[in-house]
Amino acid sequence: MGLLSGNGRSEIPPVPADRIVLKKFHSARYLHALKTASKGRWNIEALNMGIGTLDCPVFNGLYDYSVLACGATLTAAELILSGSADVAFNPSGGYHHAGPERAAGFCYINDVALACLVLAEQGKRVLYLDVDVHHGDGVAYAFYDRSDVMTISFHENPGTLFPGTGFEDEIGTGQGKGYCVNVPLPVGTYDEAYMKAFNAIALPLIGAYNPDVIVFELGADALAGDPLAHLYLTNNVYAEIIKHLISLDKPILATGGGGYNIDNTVRAWALAWSILAGADTEHDMNLGVGGVMLESTDWQGGLRDRTLAVSSQQHDIVMPVVEATIEMVKANVFAFHGL
Ligand SMILES: [Zn+2]
Repeated sequence: MGLLSGNGRSEIPPVPADRIVLKKFHSARYLHALKTASKGRWNIEALNMGIGTLDCPVFNGLYDYSVLACGATLTAAELILSGSADVAFNPSGGYHHAGPERAAGFCYINDVALACLVLAEQGKRVLYLDVDVHHGDGVAYAFYDRSDVMTISFHENPGTLFPGTGFEDEIGTGQGKGYCVNVPLPVGTYDEAYMKAFNAIALPLIGAYNPDVIVFELGADALAGDPLAHLYLTNNVYAEIIKHLISLDKPILATGGGGYNIDNTVRAWALAWSILAGADTEHDMNLGVGGVMLESTDWQGGLRDRTLAVSSQQHDIVMPVVEATIEMVKANVFAFHGL
């Protein structure tokens, strides 16, 4: 689509993450086990750290792959820190479930936690926003007691989805109290309900926090039709959120994340990048253009999804739950920010 070059855009080859940087978040014992497993030597100690499970299998080149994917996110962070880029996107990033000594949920090396750490070390106030359908647990807990990295995660209710954490009352501890924000959403949450929660919670908090830089984990598994999750979004939600972020006029480090309906994920990330890169932002044809009446069933909306119809029954089930969640989150965290 010509979106990778021109108009100040460029593709930057990633550099594998340095072991010294990796150790800012992961333990030496864990990194050693990951590297060893990658070479075919795997033991019960590695398994106890989540390496070699069904979710996090061992494969040839696992270590090189993990540190290269992470290195791309860190390369993006460096571009932003040096002022070389206002916006950087690593679709092969967003491994938000990995813990200091734990592989989990398809994640081995937590590139997003490391990027937030590196940015915070340079004195930046970091906002971490996570719209993957799963709770961004690895990042939330990395900064649970810190106020220099605010984490906001929108996700499907942990009662119905991995990893089982991310309820409204998980708000951080000590210095970090009020700087960890979780917005669990019910099965069937659709665009209007999602944006209601985003506008009511994320916008005022981001405004009050006034970050220097935004790290944006853009999992595409909250889209309708994802085989692993149960939300009902279209990619128009991501487009709208990105426009809000751009309007803040802060550097944005975006990453991919989950996304298991491949076609939908590809289009969502292509759309996200096109908007992040300042292309075609007014192309809002997400209504019912096309169809046999117009002598063509071709979809004219480009990368955008068609608007999905929502039944009154779905509305009546979802909206009251989302509204109650909004009130609970506001009651739990807004006072810490003078809201
Ligand atoms: Zn996910």
